[in-house]
Amino acid sequence: MKAYIIIIGDEILSGRTLDTNSNFIASELDKIGISTFKIVTIPDQVFQIKNQIKDAFASEANFIFTTGGLGPTKDDKTKQVITDFLNDTLVLHRPSLDYIKQIYYKNNRVMNPLTYNQAMVPSKSEVIINKYGTAPILWTLKDSKLLINLPGVPYETCGMLKEVIIPKIKNDFQLDYIIRESAIVIDIPESELAIKLENWENNLPEFISLAYLPSGSKIELRLTAIGKNKIYLQNSIQNEINKLNSLLGKNLIISQTTRIEEIIGNFLIKNNLTISVAESLTGGSISKKITSISGSSRYYKGGVTAYSKEAKKNVLMIKEEILKENNIVSETIAKEMAIHCSSLFNSDISISTTGVAGPNSDEFNNPVGLAFVGIYYKGDIVIKKYLFPNLTREEMIARITYKSLESLYF
Ligand code: ATP
Ligand code: MG
Repeated sequence: MKAYIIIIGDEILSGRTLDTNSNFIASELDKIGISTFKIVTIPDQVFQIKNQIKDAFASEANFIFTTGGLGPTKDDKTKQVITDFLNDTLVLHRPSLDYIKQIYYKNNRVMNPLTYNQAMVPSKSEVIINKYGTAPILWTLKDSKLLINLPGVPYETCGMLKEVIIPKIKNDFQLDYIIRESAIVIDIPESELAIKLENWENNLPEFISLAYLPSGSKIELRLTAIGKNKIYLQNSIQNEINKLNSLLGKNLIISQTTRIEEIIGNFLIKNNLTISVAESLTGGSISKKITSISGSSRYYKGGVTAYSKEAKKNVLMIKEEILKENNIVSETIAKEMAIHCSSLFNSDISISTTGVAGPNSDEFNNPVGLAFVGIYYKGDIVIKKYLFPNLTREEMIARITYKSLESLYF
């Protein structure tokens, strides 16, 4: 099943408004196995709307969505174009009128001729009352395609889509079930992974598709199964995950999510490990990420934002002479921070960060973008050195935060 989305609005084309509707519609459709093959943005012009609707009806689309231009004002042209396209006429839709009157009454507003226009709809369309606004949504079947006209306001479109339109599509079209599972692969380059998985991939059942989604140094393998029998699909996906497990072993992490903090949380719980953090460069951002996960109290023991030398000395208890003799942005300091942090919090794992986020270099003339991450793990210590000279301050902090969490795997 395929979808074609037409975004209508001068304000999008002029750059005043960022189109968020198409993204929302496409991702909601994707969840129910309908793939969008085209998204176009056009102005509020009769000629353009007419042509685009024609193009969509001539295409392979089963579902055609439009957003925008459903309102009562002169610049809202979608409804009239649709009516003409259907060789239809606009008729008054009583339930919509009653509903709009009710809203006006509630808000102490007086109806005017333009608001009556809102309740005029093509006679051949099914009307779905828009409980988030006043413009009715049009649902029209023509030439075995479904045309759905939604308002432009994202709040209305998103609400109605999620609560009414998607369930109605699922019900009316008896769509297949769609089951997804993600597996995260770490520490293997994509090309090497593809070779390793070639045989397995070639033997995947036809109803299961595979996507490689690399980001940073991890690769998400997304398996999608589509069919009528939900239990069978779930079992088949599980079967493939088991095969992946035996092929990739410790490099594979099964997760419903790709958020690093959640993956780490699952990993720590699974291995019964606790963690603490000593942050200089990242200023608390690692702790913030870890604690954004509910249930993190099971593994997160605490964190110190040891930004100054005093904090490194008085809170982390690093010896004064070590701080004096060494460059603060160095392997030695990262190491000291991680070790002292683990004893301060009595945790199995400790992460430390020190570096120069910029935009200016520090008192030691360390280059902007230099960072050291220390990982203490039950007596062992690993230090990672990074240099990202072209990042902004925010980007640098975000990158090192991510790298620190990611490095817990190795
Ligand atoms: P209304 O009844 O409010 O006039 P409408 O269906 O006519 O609704 P528009 O007038 O086209 O919709 O847009 C209403 C508001 O929604 C505007 O503020 C517009 O910037 C915003 N909007 C329209 N289309 C989009 C879109 N694709 N993504 C995000 N915002 C949008
Ligand atoms: Mg409008």
